Amino acid sequence: MKILPVLVLLASSFGIAQNTPYWQQHVDYTMVVDMNVENFQYTGTQKLVYTNNSPDELTRVYYHLYFNAFQPGSEMDIRLQNIADPDGRMTKEDKSSRIADLTESEIGYLHPTSLKQDGVNVTYTEEGTVLVVDLAKPLASGAKTTFDMEFKGQVPVQIRRSGRNNKDGVALSMSQWYPKLAEYDFEGWHAHPYIAREFHGVWGDFDVKLTIDKDYIVGGTGYLQNPQEIGHGYETVGSKVKKPKGKTLTWHFKAPMVHDFMWAADPEYVHDTLQMENGPTLHFLYKNDPKFAETWKAVQPLTEKAMNFFNKNIGEYPYQQYSVIQGGDGGMEYAMATLITGGDKPGSVIGTMIHELAHSWFQHVLATNEAKHEWMDEGFTSFISALCSNEIREQNKDNPFENSYNSYYYLVNSGKEQPQTTHADRYDSNTPYGISAYSKGALFLSQLGYVIGQDKLMETIAKYYDDFKFKHPVPNDVKRTAEKVSGMELDWYLTDWTQTTNTIDYGIKTVNAAGDKTKITLERIGLMPMPIDVLVVYEDGTKETFYAPLRMMRGEKDNPYPNLKRTVLDDWPWANPSYGFQIDRPIEDIKGIMIDPSQLMADVNQENNTWQPKEMPKD
Ligand SMILES: [Zn+2]
Repeated sequence: MKILPVLVLLASSFGIAQNTPYWQQHVDYTMVVDMNVENFQYTGTQKLVYTNNSPDELTRVYYHLYFNAFQPGSEMDIRLQNIADPDGRMTKEDKSSRIADLTESEIGYLHPTSLKQDGVNVTYTEEGTVLVVDLAKPLASGAKTTFDMEFKGQVPVQIRRSGRNNKDGVALSMSQWYPKLAEYDFEGWHAHPYIAREFHGVWGDFDVKLTIDKDYIVGGTGYLQNPQEIGHGYETVGSKVKKPKGKTLTWHFKAPMVHDFMWAADPEYVHDTLQMENGPTLHFLYKNDPKFAETWKAVQPLTEKAMNFFNKNIGEYPYQQYSVIQGGDGGMEYAMATLITGGDKPGSVIGTMIHELAHSWFQHVLATNEAKHEWMDEGFTSFISALCSNEIREQNKDNPFENSYNSYYYLVNSGKEQPQTTHADRYDSNTPYGISAYSKGALFLSQLGYVIGQDKLMETIAKYYDDFKFKHPVPNDVKRTAEKVSGMELDWYLTDWTQTTNTIDYGIKTVNAAGDKTKITLERIGLMPMPIDVLVVYEDGTKETFYAPLRMMRGEKDNPYPNLKRTVLDDWPWANPSYGFQIDRPIEDIKGIMIDPSQLMADVNQENNTWQPKEMPKD
């Protein structure tokens, strides 16, 4: 019996330290903010209760102060001046930086004016967009601490995403506006400077009171707690609103289990709502200008359709509200809301809405680190929104991802591809980042459908959502989910596709008569492994398929063409550069042979993917 305490001690000092199960930090923000709409300056208090669920004692924390990016000489400004293909939205016609030109009253800033930890002043330093805080007392594993901060900010002239008086005339697009605690996870701190991309936040609950000119209509993250004092379309339909006296209104929002809080405000917003059957309330806020009306009416029923599509194909949207708000530039996703540029063409706003709404799943519920795994965020969103567009906008494309494939091929041919493990800010230029994150990221899933089968792909997506919602999934999590669903080994797929720039190139090397049979030899030219589907079309109009599973995959997908006879061939061991099989019909019977008729395998050279008995006439 006496030996027991020793065993317990051993277990706690060795076992736990070596094998910590998943954990994540937690924050509870309570903020009271006062916005001056004359000079676009604001002040606020922030009480932040921080729970350290990590196994580590912390002596430091970091906050993001994003608005400091919008100042001449900031890292965002300098990067803009040095990148080969600066974002056109952030530059003037001569491609020079718009940030460099901002005057004192136009810049953005966010500065703490006091900061206490459990009532004791702490030492803090601003390093551009990051606040470094040395704790007054260490925060033990499992303990909570409270930070009380006072801060002041100025909303920048709109440069990128957030800002004031953007080109649509929206007064305030308030994303990245508050001191936001950086995330600490199993990889350590993620106190990324704000250079171009931003998302990785701590999960938690927000309580925000915003005081602003009473004529301003506000939308964003969070449920309004005092709609009968506010009105502006938030009150119960037909009810009487009792507004307090005075020039301002205080909007009180609560947002449970989110990792960001955005709001937007304008005195000329029209506010429409759409109550979905058994679903969330959709809010639409847009400028009261006839040139926007058609677009913003057209987007409403499609938002409902898109919400239904994602609910069905990924998993249930977990909040009771979603807001589509005119603001920002382009489109940007936030918790329970999006900011989208107005647009007089409904098509582009609808396309953007579908993409940004899809981010509610692939970022705001499945909160991947966007700076490190940009392809899981933008790529998965691009994948599912392409499927959604194809259905709800009745595009009926055979391959809804065709544009993504073409962009990826363009990137490979440009010689500028970098592995998808590259930090989002560290690509050589914007184009390879964009194609790698959005297009090659979408291909990760569409091509996974080729590897494991379409049904298994959709099952993987649903299980991935179910298992990792309200967490920070990493690349291995999606791979493991696909492995569990398909029963295959997929490490080679994750490794080659996301951690290298290896490419796929398979070809039909030779087709030879062998008596009354035909011998086909395939070849692997690229380094990346793949299982191979081959379609054979005969002169009599019949077709059949042959399937060469990849040996290291240790499994087979279901027949993707159930109407055609499929022969499962021997496994292809990756190291073998060539692979032969035989067809039980003479070569004269064959009209054509094709590798991967689905075109979902991203083969960078497709000229060698088909074989026909005669040279086709060239024109
Ligand atoms: Zn996106």
